[in-house]
Amino acid sequence: MENLYWQRYPLWRDVPPEQWYDWHWQYRHIVSTMEDLVQVLPMTPEAIEGAKSTMSDYKFASTPYYLTLIDAKNPECPIRLQTIPDFKEVSRAAMDMEDPLGEDSHMPVPGLVHRYPDRVLFLVTTSCAMYCRFCTRRRIVLNKEHRTERELENVFNYLREHKEVRDIIISGGDALFIGDKFLETCLEGFRSIPHIEIIRIATRIPIVCPMRVDEKLVTMLRKYAPLYLMTHFNHPYELTDEAKKACAMFVDHGIPMMNQTVLLRKVNSDPVILRALFHELLKNRVKPYYLYQCDLSEGIEHFRTPVQKGIEIIESLRGHTSGLAVPEFVIDAPGGGGKVPVMPQYLISESDKKVVVRNYRGFISVYEQPRETDCECSTTEEINKLYPAPPSEGPDLLMHSKRVGIEPSK
Ligand code: SF4
Repeated sequence: MENLYWQRYPLWRDVPPEQWYDWHWQYRHIVSTMEDLVQVLPMTPEAIEGAKSTMSDYKFASTPYYLTLIDAKNPECPIRLQTIPDFKEVSRAAMDMEDPLGEDSHMPVPGLVHRYPDRVLFLVTTSCAMYCRFCTRRRIVLNKEHRTERELENVFNYLREHKEVRDIIISGGDALFIGDKFLETCLEGFRSIPHIEIIRIATRIPIVCPMRVDEKLVTMLRKYAPLYLMTHFNHPYELTDEAKKACAMFVDHGIPMMNQTVLLRKVNSDPVILRALFHELLKNRVKPYYLYQCDLSEGIEHFRTPVQKGIEIIESLRGHTSGLAVPEFVIDAPGGGGKVPVMPQYLISESDKKVVVRNYRGFISVYEQPRETDCECSTTEEINKLYPAPPSEGPDLLMHSKRVGIEPSK
């Protein structure tokens, strides 16, 4: 007898499995009002008032499926904290920003963020199947706008002219919240541009609506390889049987999966939780890729941890588990500075003769530098002709040119 767990909820008492596991049904029945929410999740009058106080600025939405993961008995349930609006969202910290990553100011054509020379970010929609309370793009998410054919054509034209771009991330909103047809139009267009080598799709669908991942979708996606699926598990409880099945569908169709976790206070701000998450992801063939320090978006200070918490978590992972299970901890530098890696200090001292390092157990050892230090390779020029590198910037530019300094631009 199948476990019809959703039928415990009055709202979905009569929903048969063929509807529950149909992503069209899930999308059509996204819960977005307090009236429906309280039928699923018992809430105190204070919690209801708190939720209402923020919903005029930042809406609420969740798939029925994701709501069933909430433990109603735990007011600090990690799924609940990510889903249910809270009065804390109305407060502002001194450095809160509407657009902390400076995306809007790096948008040469609507929807396309071009910040790094060789990579672009395409925001194909502002809609999602579930609205995460900690979202960096809360300024635009749930505006319910999809890019039009004309806007897409402008994006293609821009990319055809910018031959330095080799990598595109299709994001949003949620890139898999759009229909297969428009998604395929995007993919066909990007694949037809010869210098675009890599396509990435950023989505939280495997977590919030795993039934969206069906044979039709993965068969279509595999035609556009090399294509990577960037997803966003934040807690082991999100790795349900349904979510695991969705991950397996992608990977079995040759689509590698990488995971980007946001470090969230009270949700996953503990090495025990993140170690379990990263191990479980690996078992499901999903590589833990980044651990993000939570951004300075407006009204989400209560989700932010001190930066040291992330460093402490990496300290608890590195060496204590396989390197495959250790993501890179980064701060996405406010104002559009890009990802800055932050990690514990393992290099204790250095000279041109020796470096002194410590390992995860505090074992201190010395590494002797080689006597010959010339590192030039015979094939560098040849390879550079075959695979031209993008223009150098920052310290790399100083290392490999005759420039004597970098002046900050005015
Ligand atoms: S799925 Fe992504 S874009 Fe959508 S609300 Fe969540 S974090 Fe924001």
